[in-house]
Amino acid sequence: MAKEDTIALEGQFILQTYLRAPFVIERGMGCTLYDDQGRAYLDLAAGIAVNALGYGDPELVAAIQAQAARLIHVSNLYQTEPAAQLARMLCERSFADRVFFCNSGAEANEGAIKFARKWAKTHFPARAGRKVEVVAFEGAFHGRTMGSLAITPREKYQAPFQPLMPGVRVARFNDLASAAAAITDDTCAVIVEPVQGEGGIHLAEPEFLRGLRALCDQRHALLIFDEVQCGLGRTGTLWAHEFYGVTPDIMTLAKPLGGGLPIGAVLMTEDVASVMQPGDHGTTFGANPVACAAAQVVVRRLSAPGFLADVRAKGEHLIERLQEINSPHIREVRGRGLMVGIEMDLPVAPFIQQGYARGLIMINAGERILRLVPPLIIERADLDRAVDELSAILTGL
Ligand code: PLP
Repeated sequence: MAKEDTIALEGQFILQTYLRAPFVIERGMGCTLYDDQGRAYLDLAAGIAVNALGYGDPELVAAIQAQAARLIHVSNLYQTEPAAQLARMLCERSFADRVFFCNSGAEANEGAIKFARKWAKTHFPARAGRKVEVVAFEGAFHGRTMGSLAITPREKYQAPFQPLMPGVRVARFNDLASAAAAITDDTCAVIVEPVQGEGGIHLAEPEFLRGLRALCDQRHALLIFDEVQCGLGRTGTLWAHEFYGVTPDIMTLAKPLGGGLPIGAVLMTEDVASVMQPGDHGTTFGANPVACAAAQVVVRRLSAPGFLADVRAKGEHLIERLQEINSPHIREVRGRGLMVGIEMDLPVAPFIQQGYARGLIMINAGERILRLVPPLIIERADLDRAVDELSAILTGL
C-alpha cells in the first residue's frame, strides 16, 4: 500500500489520540527503522523505551516464532511453562517472591493499587475504609486507565475525565517534607518512579527514596516502584532502584519486558502476595505464552555478563558528548544509563521534526525536554553519529 494511502486510512479510521510522525514505518533492523520509501532512521526512541534489543534480534524472533507455533494463548485457567519460567527468572533477579502478569504498564499499576488496598484491608481491619490512600508525586506518569490516571497528577491528562479514583494525595518529587506531610496512617501505598520518565527525566535523589522507605515503614504503607520505563536495564542496572540500595514492596514493569510484545508485570513480596486469593484479580491475556517466551530472552540477555556495564559506559559517553554541545538554549543534560533528557529553554517539537529530515527518531518528555531512550544494544558509533546530528540541529538555531 502506498504511503499516502496508509496515512489517509489512519486519518479516517483510527481514533486521533496521537500526533503521529509524517511517515509510515515499515520495518526495522538493529537500531535502524525504515519507512515505506526506504528511508533509514536511527532510532533514539525504541518505541518509547521498549525495544531494548532493537529490531530483528535473531534470538528474540526465533523464540517468538517457536512459541507461536507451539501455543499462542490458552488463558490463565491453565498452566503454561513460559509464564512459570519467566516468573522464576524475575524473582531470582529481584526482591520479589511472586509475580502477576498483565499486558501494559497502566494495567500493572492498576494491579499494584488493588494489591495494596487489599493488603491494607487485610492487615489493618480497624482502619478498613480509611487506609485506602495512595500517595503519588508531581511529575509522575503511571498510565491512562482510571486508577493509574488518578495517580498521574497532571491537569492536562486528568481534567477531561473527572471524577477520578478518590483517595490520592500528591506530594512534591524529591521533597521529603512534602512526602512526610502526605503519608499518614491512612496511606496504603506510596508510588514513585525512581527515575521519572514522561515527567522529564528526573532522577530521584538517594535520600528521597531512602526517606520514602522509612516513612512507609513508620506508617505501615507499601512502597511501590514504578519501573515501567526506568527498569530492566534502562539506567544501567537491571532495576533502577539498585542504584539507591532501597527495596520496594511492589514493583511494576512493562515496556521493554516483552521485547516489543505487550506484557506487564507486578512483582511483590510474599507479604503482599499472601492477601490475594483466587478470583481477586485477573486478565484474559496476562501471562501470554508468546510474550512470556520473548520476555525470557530479554531478561536473559540483559543479565548476560557485561551487558549492563556496557549500558552504563555508553550512557556516560552519551551524556558527556551531549554536554559538549554548545547551544545557549540547552539548560541541562541529565539522566542515567541510556535514559537521557536534554532540557531546552524552548519547545523541542521543531527539533524532533528536523531530526526526521536528518534520519533521526527522537521523542520529547514534556514540551521542552528531548528524551533519548535508544535500544540498549546501540553501538557507540551510532551514539556519536546521533550526537553529531543533534549538535547540528541544536546549534543551527
Ligand atoms: N508507568 C510509567 C513510568 C510509564 O512511563 C508508562 C508509560 O509511558 C506507564 C506507566 C504506562 O504504561 P503503558 O503505556 O504500557 O500503559
